[in-house]
Amino acid sequence: MNEDKKMEPKVNDITKRGPSLSVVIPCYNEEPAIRETNSRVSALVGTYAERGIISDYEIIYVNDGSKDATLKILKELATENDKLRIISFSGNFGHQAALTAGLHHAGGDVAVSLDADLQDPPEVMEAMLAKYAEGADIVFGVRSNREQDTFFKRFTAESFYKLMHVMGVNVVYNHADFRLISRPVLDEFKHYGEINRFLRGIFPSMGFVQASVEYSRDKRIAGETKYPLRKMLAFALEGITSFSNFPLRLAFILGFANFVVALFLVAWTLMTKLKGNAIPGWASIVVPLYLFGGIQLMFIGVLAEYVGKIYMEVKHRPIFTIREKVNFRD
Ligand code: UDP
Ligand code: MG
Repeated sequence: MNEDKKMEPKVNDITKRGPSLSVVIPCYNEEPAIRETNSRVSALVGTYAERGIISDYEIIYVNDGSKDATLKILKELATENDKLRIISFSGNFGHQAALTAGLHHAGGDVAVSLDADLQDPPEVMEAMLAKYAEGADIVFGVRSNREQDTFFKRFTAESFYKLMHVMGVNVVYNHADFRLISRPVLDEFKHYGEINRFLRGIFPSMGFVQASVEYSRDKRIAGETKYPLRKMLAFALEGITSFSNFPLRLAFILGFANFVVALFLVAWTLMTKLKGNAIPGWASIVVPLYLFGGIQLMFIGVLAEYVGKIYMEVKHRPIFTIREKVNFRD
């Protein structure tokens, strides 16, 4: 990218020569799809290079502990083409870990992450690169339709985005993991040391110039989804608990509300008792029941507030991010 330190490098300079591109593709048991994916993506980025949209490219496949022939096929393909790179995990560490490893190894000026099943049409990369040329550092691929999805998938997915929003997690509606990120973002991303990873929450929170590109998501070309309901729920929970202390705070809010109501109930119980309308023993049972229920829940909430603070601290996320520096000597 632009090595020379000009005062107004607001627009990413690809006029002379396009950026080098790293395509990152996580693969878990993608044997039926991987060859077709590779030929379509390779051919496409080849034409980008010929047209000068990009200067060079690499395709990084991350094999996430596949149990089928994925790795074998990838190795075959890589011997024929030295622009294909493979990172192979020792086991199944999950989609987010695979994406992270690929992005950490990306050597290009920009990186685009793509699913191995071609549900995210690679042709959309051209629009992403155009946004990059206009100055964007992060370009989100946003789905314009969900017609391909079953009613169930659509409903669960849309509820997921709404729930995240309510919990105060900053996610881009209908954006999954199809996105372009530029070199400065890639470098910064290396400082995110958290083990529980939810990339869709991390990138929108990083700042930089963000843009999005709409696309319609296709059907999986072959094989079946690696995200059954169980994994989808776990993923949603991960997203919420990685970015929001709201569930912890809920204990305090409920506890406090409970305590306030309990005070009224105690007053009412005592009045009933004094008026002589109560059965013997009733007041002495219900008063502590109301009162201590509220107090206990409230203090669990207080504990939760501190646990939440500790949780946020141990992540060691960067406190700020510098996009660029001018006239500094490193
Ligand atoms: N994937 C992965 N590790 C996993 C699960 C999935 O690397 O444990 C990859 C998978 O090979 C694909 C992408 O993540 O490239 C998205 O998975 P999938 O297409 O099955 O999810 P869906 O599109 O059905 O939500
Ligand atoms: Mg898919």
